[in-house]
Amino acid sequence: MARVTRTPLIAGNWKMNLDHLQSIAFPQKLHWSLQDARHDYSAVEVAIFPPFTDLRSVQTLVAADKYDLVYGAQDLSAFDSGAYTGEVSGAFLKALEARYVIIGHSERRQYHHETDEEIAAKVAAALRHGLIPVLCVGETADDLEQHGPSAIPVAQLRAALAGTPAGTELVVAYEPVWAIGSGQAATPEQAEQVAAALRAALVELIGQDSADATRILYGGSVKAANIASLMRQPNVDGALVGGASLDVAEFSSIAQFPKHVGT
Ligand code: PEP
Repeated sequence: MARVTRTPLIAGNWKMNLDHLQSIAFPQKLHWSLQDARHDYSAVEVAIFPPFTDLRSVQTLVAADKYDLVYGAQDLSAFDSGAYTGEVSGAFLKALEARYVIIGHSERRQYHHETDEEIAAKVAAALRHGLIPVLCVGETADDLEQHGPSAIPVAQLRAALAGTPAGTELVVAYEPVWAIGSGQAATPEQAEQVAAALRAALVELIGQDSADATRILYGGSVKAANIASLMRQPNVDGALVGGASLDVAEFSSIAQFPKHVGT
């Protein structure tokens, strides 16, 4: 039932890798790889998240060559314009035809001390500018030990979406902090348990229809070798991929997961 209503999304977070010149070669190679594989983008959406300085290059390429790839930004300002040195407005991202924006990535929470309130304000800013938030939630290893698997991700979701109207379109990425970049992904059962808890909370927060429509991604050491088992879970609707999204062949193979999932 999950697959009937939600188009899976495979999203590549480049983090602070690939400059504006490299960001032209990468989508070209990815496009060719997926074209050779006869990838059906209506069956699996593929998105890349370059650094801000690459977005214009990616926009030009995607528009000129009519790629089916979509793209987004890795963050945005909670403010729309004004004296906020170093910030990037949602309006600017929309003008570059970004479709998505990652909000609340654990690296932003950890290194930039982003609070739940700031993350909620960023979600509101994204929605004001017609960008689809990819809201990241996830627990640390300590959280897991102290609070169990779902408590922290669900609390982060509730805080970020407090005041978000029913009917809102967003993507949620469950990213256990202990799994990011560690080579140790959550098991499919762990990912499903938290994704199901997040979806139940979404019903209360944005209503049943929107909760049913929301893609919940898993992120944390996703590779071509483990994507199929994760995607067999009914509440896992895609992946947010970090390290493996920097390798065209690996990322292309992840996007082609239906070939490995079977029926
Ligand atoms: C991430 O940073 O969002 C991520 C999931 O990284 P990795 O795939 O490298 O674990």
